[in-house]
Amino acid sequence: IADQLRNVLITGCSSGIGLALAVKMAKDEQKRFKVFATMRNLAKKEPLEEAAGHRLGKTLEIKQLDVCDEQSIKTCVNSIPDRRIDVLVSNAGMGLIGPIECQSIEEMKTVMDTNFFGLVRLLKEILPDMKRRKSGHIVIISSVMGIQGILFNDVYAASKFAVEGFCESLAIQALKFKLQLSLIEPGPVVTEFERKVFEDGMKMDLSAADKETAEMFTNIYLKNYKQIFQSLGQSAEDVAEHTVKIILAENPPFRHQTNTLYTPMTTLKYADPNGDLPIDIFYKMVFQHDKIFSASLNFIKLLRWRSRKSFDLGKPSQ
Ligand code: NAD
Repeated sequence: IADQLRNVLITGCSSGIGLALAVKMAKDEQKRFKVFATMRNLAKKEPLEEAAGHRLGKTLEIKQLDVCDEQSIKTCVNSIPDRRIDVLVSNAGMGLIGPIECQSIEEMKTVMDTNFFGLVRLLKEILPDMKRRKSGHIVIISSVMGIQGILFNDVYAASKFAVEGFCESLAIQALKFKLQLSLIEPGPVVTEFERKVFEDGMKMDLSAADKETAEMFTNIYLKNYKQIFQSLGQSAEDVAEHTVKIILAENPPFRHQTNTLYTPMTTLKYADPNGDLPIDIFYKMVFQHDKIFSASLNFIKLLRWRSRKSFDLGKPSQ
C-alpha cells in the first residue's frame, strides 16, 4: 500500500500529540493519508479545526470516539468507508501523579481504563478487519514510562507497562497476519497533559500521606517537575514527526523512543538484568545528588536554548 491512500484513525485529537499528528498527516504534501481525527468531546474540536485549515473535510475528518465506550468506537468505525483503517494510532491517554495513599482506587481505575483498556477496546473492534485484509499498522503512543517507572508515577507507569506487555504478546500473532505494531515512547512532552497533571498534583489533598512522603512529593517531585519538562521536554510536533516517520518506514520498529536526551536513562534498564541499577541511580539523583541533578538540567536547558538560537540565526530571513 506504499503509494495508495491510507486511512488513518487517531484517538485523542482535541489537543497535544493527537492534534499535532492529525494535522501533520492531513497536510502531507504527497497526500498519502486520509485522517479520521477522533475525540471524546466534539465541543473541543475548534483548535483542531483551526489547525487543519482548508484540509478540513478533505484529507481530515473529525469524528466522535471515546476509548472508554465500546459503542462509540463501533459507531465511529462503522462510519468509515468499508470500515477500512490502514493505520490506527492509539494516542488517547491520561496521567496521574502523587502518593498512592492519596489516590482513590476509582481514580486509578480510570487511568487503567483509558490508557490500557482503551487500547484493548479499539483493537477488539479494528483488529479482526486488519487480520482479514492481512494489512494494517497499529501505532501506540506509549511512553518511556512503559519501560521504566518513575517516582510518584506508580499507576501511570503501570498502565503503560500493561500496554507494552499486551503489545509484546500481540506482536507475535500480528506478524502471522502480516500486520505491523509499533510503540512510540516519548519522554516528557510539553502538552495539556503535563499542565493538567501538574495542576492536579498541586491541588492534591496530601493529608492521607505521612509527613515525609507528602514533603517528598511537594518539595522534590513537584519542585523538579517544571524544570524536567523545560530542559528535557519535546514538543507535540516533534513527537508527531517521529510518529509519521515510523508510519512511513518500510520495516517499522516495534519500539521507538523519540527523545535522545532521555535514552541514557532507559538504557540503564537493559544494562542490569537484576534491575537494581536504574533504581539506584534514580534514588541517588533524587535524594543524594539533587543539586547536581538540578544543575545538569539547567545546563541542558541552556545548551538547547543556545542551539535553537544558532539554528534560528541560520535560517534565511523572510
Ligand atoms: P493531552 O492531554 O494533550 O492529550 C491526550 C488526549 O487524550 C486529550 O485530547 C484527551 O481529551 C484525550 N482523552 C482522554 N481520555 C479519553 C477518552 N476516554 N477517549 C478519547 N480521548 C480521550 O496529552 P498528550 O501529551 O498529547 O498525550 C497523548 C499521549 O501521549 C497519551 O497517551 C500520553 O500518555 C502519552 N505521553 C505523553 C507524554 C507527556 O509528557 N505529555 C509523555 C509520554 C507519553
